[in-house]
Amino acid sequence: METRFGWTGKILKIDLTKKKISSLTTHDYSEDFLGGLGIGEKIYWDETVPETRALDPENPLILMTGPLCGTTAPSAPRLVVCGKSPMTCPERFVNASIAGFFPAELKKAGWDGVVLFGRSDTPVVIRIENGTVTLDDAAHLWGLKNTAARERIATVSGDKHKIMSIGPGGENGARMGTLLIDLAGSAGMGFGAVMGSKNVKAIVVRGTGKVPVADPEGVKQVRKKLKQMTGPGFHNLYENSMPIPGNRVVRKVHCHGCAQGCWRAVHRRPSGLEGIRKCQTVGFYMLWDMKKNGQVTDITFRAMDLANEYGLCIHEMLFLLLWIEWARDREILNEENTGLPLSDMGSLEFIERFMKMIAAREGFGRVLGEGALRAVEAFGAESKKMVLGFLTKTGRPSRTYGPKSFIISAPIHATEQRPAITSLHEICHPLTKWALWYKSKGEQSYVSTDVLRNIAEKFWGGKAAVDFSTYDGKAKAAVIIQNREYAKECLVLCDLVWPVHDDASTDDHVGDPALESRLLSAVVGRDISAEALDRIGARVLALNRAILFRDGRKGREEDTLSEVCFVSLQEPPADIFDMYNPERYLPGKGDELISHKTAAVDRKKFEKMMDEYYDLRGWDVETGLLKKTTLKELGLGFVVDSLGEKVL
Ligand code: SF4
Repeated sequence: METRFGWTGKILKIDLTKKKISSLTTHDYSEDFLGGLGIGEKIYWDETVPETRALDPENPLILMTGPLCGTTAPSAPRLVVCGKSPMTCPERFVNASIAGFFPAELKKAGWDGVVLFGRSDTPVVIRIENGTVTLDDAAHLWGLKNTAARERIATVSGDKHKIMSIGPGGENGARMGTLLIDLAGSAGMGFGAVMGSKNVKAIVVRGTGKVPVADPEGVKQVRKKLKQMTGPGFHNLYENSMPIPGNRVVRKVHCHGCAQGCWRAVHRRPSGLEGIRKCQTVGFYMLWDMKKNGQVTDITFRAMDLANEYGLCIHEMLFLLLWIEWARDREILNEENTGLPLSDMGSLEFIERFMKMIAAREGFGRVLGEGALRAVEAFGAESKKMVLGFLTKTGRPSRTYGPKSFIISAPIHATEQRPAITSLHEICHPLTKWALWYKSKGEQSYVSTDVLRNIAEKFWGGKAAVDFSTYDGKAKAAVIIQNREYAKECLVLCDLVWPVHDDASTDDHVGDPALESRLLSAVVGRDISAEALDRIGARVLALNRAILFRDGRKGREEDTLSEVCFVSLQEPPADIFDMYNPERYLPGKGDELISHKTAAVDRKKFEKMMDEYYDLRGWDVETGLLKKTTLKELGLGFVVDSLGEKVL
């Protein structure tokens, strides 16, 4: 086979119903869709029909790496997980991603991705030893929590194998079931339940090969450049772990090939409890621990471990806990109708019973296992209103990096089933660094207002993107950001490192938006410009929208924001920007500072911004539908016939 650098050339395809193991050819997809999400979308488009439900055997579980994974490219340790998600309301195609060493091991075993179809009649473990793939009996593992299952697998396989597993939550179809890999990496959006619905307990992989790279020296140069840019003076937003009183960071842990590192680290409690902790997941039960016990105790720490053990998404756990407490205080929920010790929220017993019940889908756990937005349906309009205070209509967080702080994120929230966290991170990063500059008077960050404006000019289409006194320039910025981030999900790079907006090594401190294309070019041995990457991003985003339309999403009437976005309110911090900048200051014109602490989105201006957004995308302004001409220009003519009235 002809060597195509960056790829092994094969995607593992397993029909679990027929126990048939075969492969797809990566290069049939990679030319147009690059990798990761792009290839995942194309497989999903080709292999599914709109009626397929998330936990049907026909819903494929797609795990797809990018061309950089498993190479020496810096901070490219992720793979994209996609398919129809049981978590969104209604069930729709979305993607998640997962980082650690499993994705690189898969590549080294000679597989660019794995696509699972069908349902095994008995529980299995998929074992991949380089080119040899077997479906092993997993009856003895079914029902085990993640650690016990992984330990038993490791006893047989040895510690060199990398494992992706599910807990009882995924096995029993809890909609928030997660996939777990090494370094406590997990993927949400219910993909653990999708794997469980296929009767697959784990995928175990060992690879001893190498991923071919065309220009190793070129990759080294990009790595060196990245190191310079993020050298002395650079503020890594994710350097310091989330502050949990009592926790001590024992050591940092990095994913495969990571050049930077983040708050992923081994934490230790004074009691000696240890475990890997990352981002806000660390403290999802902290509020109730503190309310009950007057301080943060080991219970906060144990709650996180329990979520991993049962394989349940902590975001969804948090949404449910917020609603349960609210409903308890209004006597909508009580100990009789839930079977939970509601007066004991904050205890270990409560959180353990809560998760066990959800994971087993027993009693009230059947309701809770549906996720917050579906669970409240039977409890009246007030319950629904309560959760819609912090969730989008599709059941995702509405405030995190939301339009109330950053109006640039409004088109992303409006058009996507799951507002893409990577796009939201791209918006948040430079603005948080600017907030840090403002707050510390330049001590902790060099991203001054001038630097921020120059970053916006280079990365976001113009300085107007960061003038928050106006909605001008925001639609254009959103289009550019989404395109870049969709391309990034094809590459698949870590969004805690990429793109590199600011540069510690230059006087103007403005980063380099072409670094990703340089890296890709060096790996695959072909010149791929930043513009070409942008076009791939636009294509993959349009295919994403075509999938959503084909599966039932409506056009502009559905492209809106949560009602709460249009209401001025005093709200608690929701993200890293708020943490650094509680008043939510943002720059306006000149030296003007604007507080967005209680800001609401202006409905008329939002609609005008959406007009501009559709127009820039080449979509129909009135309906938000895709246009045939645009689809054909993007190389997506093949979707036209399937879209019927949803294309103009
Ligand atoms: S920044 Fe963190 S999550 Fe990203 S690759 Fe590095 S260690 Fe992994």
